Amino acid sequence: RAKTEQRGGYHLYRSDMSSAARERLLLLSDLRGALEQQGLGLSLHYQPQLSMVDGRLTGAEALIRWQRTDGSRIPPDRFISLAERSGLIIPLGNWVVDQALAQFRRWEDQGIDLPRIAINISLPQLRHPAFLPFLRECLEQYRIAPERIELEITESVAMQEVDLAREALARCKNRGLCIALDDFGTGFSSLAHLHRLPLDRLKIDRSFVRDLATQLQQESAGSSIAEMIVRLGHTLSLAVIAEGVETAEQQTCLQNLGCDEAQGYLYGRPMPEGDFAAWVAQR
Ligand code: C2E
Ligand code: MG
Ligand code: MG
Ligand code: MG
Repeated sequence: RAKTEQRGGYHLYRSDMSSAARERLLLLSDLRGALEQQGLGLSLHYQPQLSMVDGRLTGAEALIRWQRTDGSRIPPDRFISLAERSGLIIPLGNWVVDQALAQFRRWEDQGIDLPRIAINISLPQLRHPAFLPFLRECLEQYRIAPERIELEITESVAMQEVDLAREALARCKNRGLCIALDDFGTGFSSLAHLHRLPLDRLKIDRSFVRDLATQLQQESAGSSIAEMIVRLGHTLSLAVIAEGVETAEQQTCLQNLGCDEAQGYLYGRPMPEGDFAAWVAQR
């Protein structure tokens, strides 16, 4: 009780609240506090994306990290959905966009050859009228061509409100930005809807990549979901990237399927900016 009052006290804690609900409120008020202090404790990590044809670096995905003032690290899966439901995703998402583009500019100035940067975007951000103007302001400020930014939107989210997503994505696409459909294969897209979204890339969900190695042993890779996604993507003239590639066997399978790009622990974990630059330099 005393502890909650210390934390600014703009939430009233009711005694009949479950401890899970109380924990969520505490996380939210801490996150709000972090944003009010210029993102104190928040940072971005960057994970390399590579061509499966020649191993060249094609991009980096920015992934948010949060360490609270008490030292605890909260994974994004625990706070992004809270932020989405509370509206805090708008300032949080803007913080991510600004940080990622500022970093991209610094790498550019350092001569690091990074073709593109991918940023995860939530639906409330995408539909917010100030999102695209803010993004364009950042592109201008940091002198970055929109073609070098890829917005990642989760398939299940994009399909929840297809018309809305399509319009918002089309506005981004018209401004030159690239669009990837994240966690593809988990969201029950209808083919008709998929066809109408203005996409550049499908990201094979890592659950299907995980299944691949065992199929190689059985020499039955021909019937994998991953293969269907690669074919579907190429039929729709989309590039296909696999996420969560952890083993050489998975890599070989994906190469045989004609998957264009890959991302995963096999190549590099999400890293702080300095480690990422060192990783690039070492290659
Ligand atoms: P995602 O966009 O699908 O990101 C991929 C997740 O897989 C990341 O988890 C990454 O660390 C993890 N990963 C990468 N390679 C491997 C691998 O080889 N094996 C395994 N097991 N995992 C791998 P992370 O960083 O915990 O992010 C989780 C999710 O949180 C992301 O999934 C994304 O949906 C969301 N997220 C992260 N950062 C942001 C952000 O800035 N904004 C928004 N809106 N969402 C974000
Ligand atoms: Mg992503
Ligand atoms: Mg994903
Ligand atoms: Mg995900």
